[in-house]
Amino acid sequence: MRKKIVAGNWKMNLTREQGTILISEVVNMVHDEVNSRVQVVLCMPFPYLGFAKKLFQSQANIALGAQNCHEKPAGAYTGEVSAPILRSFEVDYVILGHSERREYFKETDAVLAEKVRQVLANGMTPIFCCGESLELRQSGDYIGFVKQQLTDGLFHLSAEDFGKIVIAYEPIWAIGTGLTASAEQAQEMHAALREHIAAHYGAAVASHTTLLYGGSCNAKNAPELFACPDVDGGLIGGASLKSREFVNICKSFPAQG
Ligand code: PEP
Repeated sequence: MRKKIVAGNWKMNLTREQGTILISEVVNMVHDEVNSRVQVVLCMPFPYLGFAKKLFQSQANIALGAQNCHEKPAGAYTGEVSAPILRSFEVDYVILGHSERREYFKETDAVLAEKVRQVLANGMTPIFCCGESLELRQSGDYIGFVKQQLTDGLFHLSAEDFGKIVIAYEPIWAIGTGLTASAEQAQEMHAALREHIAAHYGAAVASHTTLLYGGSCNAKNAPELFACPDVDGGLIGGASLKSREFVNICKSFPAQG
């Protein structure tokens, strides 16, 4: 189901005290200011998952997100966290395949395909990240590259399961760099991905797929990005650590959205 979503990715930031303050500020502002049709997702480090949801349980349009999970359901994988564990802490969304995980932890689309399976099997929503490097963008076939990431990471799913996925297009050259994709660049890629999905799953599935943009998105550039017909919201890194900025992004959809 195509939704308007703004997901904050805290990455490896904030101590318990800082995070608790951020959550309570976001909850209050979302309650007072954000259209209830906008789904807000807070993707935080694992230790928060045990208590964070209680802090926003009264706010129906805020969901709890994790930033990764292991591809196996259980076992001797010291330091890892499985999808069943996440679900038992009432996690709703799981970011998978963030470019930092692909780069630093060598996650491949084949491993990601397993992670996607695990997250879906445990009733959570994967936020599947894709995106090209600067080198690839300059080489020309950046659209083909990102389409292939979808094919390899997601197209093993049935149409029913694919319908439960959220996709985040995050050009690597825009993440944490202050270089945002222009609205035209974001729309070009999102439209191409929707067509790619339509070619595999049909137009109905494609038109219901939520496609987020991520990469130096902030309250200033979000209105233009979110006004693009194929951009359904954002995955927000740095700006999700500032309550006012993050909530302003959540308010950046066009009036009819
Ligand atoms: C991200 O890491 O998902 C991200 C979009 O980061 P930033 O907003 O800081 O570029």
